[in-house]
Amino acid sequence: MLSGHNCFRAYLHRFKRDDSPECPSCPEKPEDAEHVFFMCSRFNLQREELETILNQRIQPETLVEAMLSTKAAWNATSTFATEVLTDLRSIERRRARDNN
Ligand SMILES: [Zn+2]
Repeated sequence: MLSGHNCFRAYLHRFKRDDSPECPSCPEKPEDAEHVFFMCSRFNLQREELETILNQRIQPETLVEAMLSTKAAWNATSTFATEVLTDLRSIERRRARDNN
């Protein structure tokens, strides 16, 4: 999941590739991995699906153990991470295009 760090605004901003580190949907929240995967309202639906399959709320402290518990949990977590990162990449591409 964290290999997608280069599409988070908090990261892009630090390296001057984005004008703001903020999440476009959540004012004053930096868009970093923890925010996007565990808190951001943009991904509530996907997160709820994952939490239903894992049968628990996901948290940074417990997610790794939960995703390693069963094959279904692993698959669901991996699907969730892929969906979130794919979405962020397309938003980032759109933003880069609009700025040029
Ligand atoms: Zn957000």
